[in-house]
Amino acid sequence: VEEVKTNFIFQEIDKDLAAGKNGGQILTRFPPEPNGYLHIGHAKSICLNFGIAKHYKAGCNLRFDDTNPTKEEVEYVDSIQEDIKWLGFEWEGEPKYASDYFEQLYEWAVLLIKKGKAYVCELNAEDIAAQKGTPTTPGKESPYRNRSVEENLDLFARMRAGEFKDGEKILRAKIDMASPNMHMRDPIMYRILHRHHHRSGDQWCIYPMYDFTHGQSDFLEGITHSICTLEFEVHRPLYNWFLDQILEGETPSVRPRQIEFARLNLNYTVMSKRKLLELVQKGIVSGWDDPRMPTISGLRRRGYTPESIRMFADRVGVARRDNVIDIALLEYCVREDLNKKAMRVNAVLNPIKLIITNYPEGQVEMMETVNNPEDESMGQRTIPFSREIYIERDDFMEDAPKKFFRLGPGRQVRLKSAYIIQCDDFKKEADGTISEIYCSYFPDSRSGSDTSGLKVKGTLHWVSAQHAVDAEVRLYDRLFMDEEPDGHKDKDFKEFLNPESLTILPNCKLEPFLANVQPLDNFQFQRLGYFAADKASKPDQLVFNKTVGLRDSWAK
Ligand code: ATP
Ligand code: MG
Ligand code: MG
Repeated sequence: VEEVKTNFIFQEIDKDLAAGKNGGQILTRFPPEPNGYLHIGHAKSICLNFGIAKHYKAGCNLRFDDTNPTKEEVEYVDSIQEDIKWLGFEWEGEPKYASDYFEQLYEWAVLLIKKGKAYVCELNAEDIAAQKGTPTTPGKESPYRNRSVEENLDLFARMRAGEFKDGEKILRAKIDMASPNMHMRDPIMYRILHRHHHRSGDQWCIYPMYDFTHGQSDFLEGITHSICTLEFEVHRPLYNWFLDQILEGETPSVRPRQIEFARLNLNYTVMSKRKLLELVQKGIVSGWDDPRMPTISGLRRRGYTPESIRMFADRVGVARRDNVIDIALLEYCVREDLNKKAMRVNAVLNPIKLIITNYPEGQVEMMETVNNPEDESMGQRTIPFSREIYIERDDFMEDAPKKFFRLGPGRQVRLKSAYIIQCDDFKKEADGTISEIYCSYFPDSRSGSDTSGLKVKGTLHWVSAQHAVDAEVRLYDRLFMDEEPDGHKDKDFKEFLNPESLTILPNCKLEPFLANVQPLDNFQFQRLGYFAADKASKPDQLVFNKTVGLRDSWAK
């Protein structure tokens, strides 16, 4: 298993350890909001947080950041756990939920009110926005800012008791309306939302905001290093301010520290959960695990391995500057991994019948073939050879150019693990399509005992017609045709959808070995690429998804 490369976050942690902070303890957390499935960007954060834990022989918590009841669902909680486990990581103890801290957070909010550091405000969202000021001009103080502690305590209790409607009142921190950091200008701590929560049910009708939740949740769990993406850098003073307020006069044994890193951006894709959800809801993809989705579940169904995703996270590294990673790197990683692991098999995706006219009718020979030339331990198997086989339609040309080292009238090729054949004739239908190819074989050219002396340039894969099993094969192309589909000001990201991102080949012919594959099993279809059995593939209805081609077809 790959080691996480050391990066600036490790250096910061080393410094904290050297300074004796937190009694030498390390605990990280991965804090997803359960409002969608995890995507490849989350995988980077997972590999980083769990990678740190592994490196320091420490733990990493899984905490659901579930403070917004309007968008969260149990389905997401379940899928997130499945995906983290599949990636090969184990969180510390039971999963944690920010919602389990609601009572404690409420008490801390009351504490802030008592300290004169929070107040109930009645401005609506537009008023607040209008009075916020700009980074260079101070904001306007709310007319409710100087309410008495008693009045604030009373109003906040009544907010909790459900006396007010959504949006009627909010609780704000009383910090500094002239701060150069906009997040310090009396940020919202609580809002009223009469909404059912996936865990706390109808117990609450006020919900804490992210900023008032995250640092305190980290503190409650004893998190030492709270690692998040760069956009939270400007929230860090607020993260610390809330901790300062609730910990005033105390010297806790562990105080969490927020450290930011650059989020992963991939070209030719979108990664916001809101946009991914839109693709699902509008039926543009078949679901969160559609093999074209950048979700962990989509990649899994596509045939990606946990190792390939971890390798990708490792290669991308951890930086302090935002950048965009080429999706070709992700494809490279899975190709590398599958090259080592995937069994080589024969599949003909666009079959055309080829008849070996001088091969005895009814005869079947079992041909030996290695399962993976990269890994001897994967052994060998035999594949049946007979008079009628299928080859790829693309491997035959009636008027082939000289450099076409495949089949055409009068040309010779080797059938992989079998014989050299020569094309003698073909059958052309009235509409111009070629329906059958007629060849003769050279009996002394059998692979492994070839004494024919013939030299051929091309080797074709094939499947014996009478032994072949039928399958549907799904080919994928990029879901978006633009490098940055959500980077256009005046255009919706959906305008850049690739209409040809999915091609279904319904009449593929596979070697009989593939009749009994398990869902998600990976293979190399010789000469074609890597393919994985779909999650819904069954012996009598085989379906395969193309994971990636053998080499980067986008390179040129
Ligand atoms: P989205 O914008 O897709 O909704 P999010 O950041 O709101 O993503 P969360 O569920 O809150 O999603 O994220 C959980 C953790 O994963 C956070 O710590 C977040 O910083 C991290 N994360 C999310 N997206 C990326 C990304 N593209 N690269 C690296 N880390 C990410
Ligand atoms: Mg978030
Ligand atoms: Mg989000």
